[in-house]
Amino acid sequence: SLTIGIVGLPNVGKSTLFNALTKNDVLAANYPFATIEPNVGVVGLPDERLDKLAAMFGSEKIVPAPVSFVDIAGLVRGASKGQGRGNAFLANIRDATAICQVVRAFSDPNVLHVDGKISPSDDIETINTELLLADLQTVEKALPRLQKEAKLKKERAAVVAAAEAALALLNEGTTLYAGAAKAGIDVALLAELHLLTTKPFLYVFNVDEAELGNADFLDELRALVAPAEAIFMDAKIESELIELPEDEARELLESTGQTEPGLQQLIRVGFNTLGLQTYLTAGPKESRAWTVPVGATAPEAAGVIHSDFQRGFIKAEIVGFDDLMAAGSMAAAKAAGKVRMEGKDYIMKDGDVVEFRFNV
Ligand code: GDP
Repeated sequence: SLTIGIVGLPNVGKSTLFNALTKNDVLAANYPFATIEPNVGVVGLPDERLDKLAAMFGSEKIVPAPVSFVDIAGLVRGASKGQGRGNAFLANIRDATAICQVVRAFSDPNVLHVDGKISPSDDIETINTELLLADLQTVEKALPRLQKEAKLKKERAAVVAAAEAALALLNEGTTLYAGAAKAGIDVALLAELHLLTTKPFLYVFNVDEAELGNADFLDELRALVAPAEAIFMDAKIESELIELPEDEARELLESTGQTEPGLQQLIRVGFNTLGLQTYLTAGPKESRAWTVPVGATAPEAAGVIHSDFQRGFIKAEIVGFDDLMAAGSMAAAKAAGKVRMEGKDYIMKDGDVVEFRFNV
């Protein structure tokens, strides 16, 4: 499923952010959190619609769409040349579906910067270079083997061509995510190489609290990474927010000029970056969000709940979330003709409230 790998130079606030994320259940009391391994945390995608559904259906619990975060340590300047723990970080980052770089923009002189000066643009370049170099090494190492395979199996020639084109792109300093489509490279052919720069990147700028309301400053940072998404937060404030009772947390948040905690923005933006959306189910037991790619059909959506639902799919009873809320109850929505029966070709929409009919 959706896993966001957190990378960044040492001392930029990765652990502070990760720890705050994994304790995020205070501000969003209904969103459960689980730690799988010390460096992996699962948080719920914040979704106010679930609270409203749960109230309407008298649900015992709320189950948000899960988003996993992995704290990826060891990606330092020169990792590709064996600095620090060398390429050990690769094992952790391969499974990530998106890469979130935490960039230091806070000024605290008490926190040393590994390179002696605070420069978001230099830090971004350092990390991007390491990711590019890691991919370059992977492709260079694989190419002789791929070429040998292509001599035996004709269909492997396309993989070799894609790998060679990828090598050229990476040598120019362009990530595959940014440049593959334009260069005519089908990255699916390279899936077996688990390349890092095919993943979407997003950026968290860890800024001083005082700068959170400084639009010019934030725009400058945003411009460094556009068109990638930029999220701004003060990781220290975020870690304080999650320790406070809800009303005090709200007060602190308002005092910083933000409308939504940075952590929630990160979960939401990370989720959207991957072209995902959710549909909803509701009943007395639970109100729940399910993750599907944009463009998924009704049977594919059913398959996310259970493969039997997809195999035996008959139809889906669907009402848009807003229509349901406007009607006030499922019965009223039905009476108003807002509940539709959709067949196997229906393309799911974000916020569809669904009940599947299926054969077992
Ligand atoms: P990591 O090495 O990237 O995981 O960085 P840490 O999260 O361990 O943070 C390094 C140091 O910077 C710690 O002393 C943190 O308390 C401090 N720090 C992290 N985020 C902030 C921030 O937003 N503002 C300030 N002033 N200090 C921070």
